[in-house]
Amino acid sequence: MNIILLGPPGAGKGTQAKILINRFGIPQISTGDILRAAVKDATPLGLKVKECMDSGALVSDELVISIIKDRLSRSDCDNGFILDGFPRTVAQANALDTMLLVDSRGIDHVISIFVDNEELIARIVGRLTCKVCGQGYHAVYGPPAVPNTCDACSGELYQREDDREETMRTRLKAYQEQTSPLIDYYSERQLLRSVTGTGSIEEISSVLVSLLEGKS
Ligand code: AMP
Repeated sequence: MNIILLGPPGAGKGTQAKILINRFGIPQISTGDILRAAVKDATPLGLKVKECMDSGALVSDELVISIIKDRLSRSDCDNGFILDGFPRTVAQANALDTMLLVDSRGIDHVISIFVDNEELIARIVGRLTCKVCGQGYHAVYGPPAVPNTCDACSGELYQREDDREETMRTRLKAYQEQTSPLIDYYSERQLLRSVTGTGSIEEISSVLVSLLEGKS
């Protein structure tokens, strides 16, 4: 089961991907998480992309394509994968098709998660992340038990540089201009289904799972 979760930042792709991992036993591959880990560890890749990520712009196609090529070649992807945050441009989608074709693989499902822009901004701007383990919280919708402290590891929480309102608007613009053409790209290939990303996490995941299991 090779799945792409498509949707603007804050739509809940990462949250839903984590539920699908348990359900289908396949890994989540998030280019955002891979890039953030590189920035945190100050690797050559991290140093290269930090400024671009902090500004809310997309990093180069070439870089993310090579990350994905490497990641999809690992054996834990043999039975499938959930792509979260990739592809984000038509060039990335073309490159993905080509790399899968070489291994006689293909994409089985593309699910687009819709949420309107003002709701996305409210969600993202309240988002808090643990500095130590990366666990996510929300100041209003999912606060930690002790303010500014991670429930899981007691690490300090912070607001990601790219979760500030100004940057969020840049990220939404990047989504609109560079990523939303993928909706047509995958519709034309009869792969796209859409779900609304508003409602409880459980409501959304049950719709998603039904779609993926062919029950609706
Ligand atoms: P995310 O956590 O998926 O919202 O990604 C955070 C940031 O990482 C984005 O705003 C981009 O700067 C960068 N990024 C992640 N995935 C991609 C991608 N597929 N193409 C280009 N840039 C990406």
